[in-house]
Amino acid sequence: TRQVVLASRPQGWPTGDDFRLETVDLPELADGQVLVRNTAMSVDPYMRGRMNDVKSYVPPFQLDQPLDGAAVGEVVASRSDSVPVGARVLHGLGWREHAILPADRVTAIDTSRVSETAYLGVLGMPGLTAYAGLTAVAELREGDAVFVSGAAGAVGSLVGQIARLMGASRVVGSAGSPDKVRRLLDLGFDAAFDYHDGPVADRLREAAPDGIDVYFDNVGGEHLEAAIGRLNVQGRVAMCGAIAQYNSTEPTPAPRNLALAIGKQLTLRGFIAGSYSHLAEEFRGRMTEWIAAGEISVDETRREGLDAAPQAFIDLMRGANTGKMVVTL
Ligand code: NDP
Repeated sequence: TRQVVLASRPQGWPTGDDFRLETVDLPELADGQVLVRNTAMSVDPYMRGRMNDVKSYVPPFQLDQPLDGAAVGEVVASRSDSVPVGARVLHGLGWREHAILPADRVTAIDTSRVSETAYLGVLGMPGLTAYAGLTAVAELREGDAVFVSGAAGAVGSLVGQIARLMGASRVVGSAGSPDKVRRLLDLGFDAAFDYHDGPVADRLREAAPDGIDVYFDNVGGEHLEAAIGRLNVQGRVAMCGAIAQYNSTEPTPAPRNLALAIGKQLTLRGFIAGSYSHLAEEFRGRMTEWIAAGEISVDETRREGLDAAPQAFIDLMRGANTGKMVVTL
């Protein structure tokens, strides 16, 4: 079976040489373990941080060891009474064609109403991130004007749509291309702009003339600075990601206007989705209903084959995806 290992730690932007495809023999299953044939895997921005040798909320990937991350697949052998052969499952050992795990490390998924890849995106970690970030972290209220960056991505596209459904007065998104901007308007955003079109602060002023109450930050840097400038008194920022700096080798200068947070009495709150697992059930229930009712549109960009996974990851950080980037195996 094949797996992708980390060949070297990227300096700045990752390249194909930082990854290596290996063929290995599968060991025998131990008691209580299952063998999963992976059918799809996720590539996510947080994986870039794990490629650095630094302590963080998830341990770093190890050199010459397989990468990991969310994946879905079919159980093809089982030495557990609780997980039968044929079960469709979600688990944490992506970046490989087959995974061996203890049965309690896989979660059964229901693919009768949604595709299996939904569990990597809209019904999975990115979906929970959007939901928890808006409701619990930014404490969204009816009538709030909301701005989200990375708005055409997996998390961002859901943030904008959930905000609308929860009564936001105005939803503004930024993204990296004219096509993505058009897509955001189709998804029901009130305004959207391409952040390449001049200073973000100027574009945001046009898009949100009455200011914003909530900023869902996926990008950091200039976007965060522009949002701080535009936030109304007692505005709230859900600090979700800072993808503008994940591949930079220099510290980023912005936001230079952070002291505005004092007079405006802003709340800037960082969070990780893993700390909101207590909301997972509520989130899944509501999201499943929204999808069934056609109230949420789910975008996905697919790449095919394990060989394509490293490039899918690199392209994700360059904005090649609209919605969730997944690799089918
Ligand atoms: P996306 O699907 O949004 O993909 C990443 C996107 O980032 C790209 O498509 C690209 O879109 C955009 N991007 C890349 N570089 C820049 C840049 N310099 N400036 C602005 N946009 C850029 O990924 P996810 O939805 O999975 O993740 C979105 C963010 O949320 C990331 O920052 C991620 O780290 C964070 N996150 C945080 C979690 C948490 O628990 N805190 C959990 C999950 C995600 P474009 O074409 O628009 O540039």
